[in-house]
Amino acid sequence: MKTSTIQHGNKFSSFFCNLFGHHYVVSKKVTKHIKEYKCVHCQKQVTTDVSGKLSELTPQMQEINNTLEDMYQKRRSRVVQSVA
Ligand SMILES: [Zn+2]
Repeated sequence: MKTSTIQHGNKFSSFFCNLFGHHYVVSKKVTKHIKEYKCVHCQKQVTTDVSGKLSELTPQMQEINNTLEDMYQKRRSRVVQSVA
């Protein structure tokens, strides 16, 4: 008989998150302003979108972030800073 302790309690965790809100930690820094976050309880992933709000990290968003990260890294390595 297998014990059910291996269950990650995803359902319980999302229930917990529904009650108390997600506990996001930064999982990836994309740019200075855009980061990806992961909930430590239910593993839900979100990202900062262009308007500065958190939205779900869809494959499309992930792709955008990868592009942004790439651009950001290149720009940084060139050390060209325009004062906006
Ligand atoms: Zn959560």
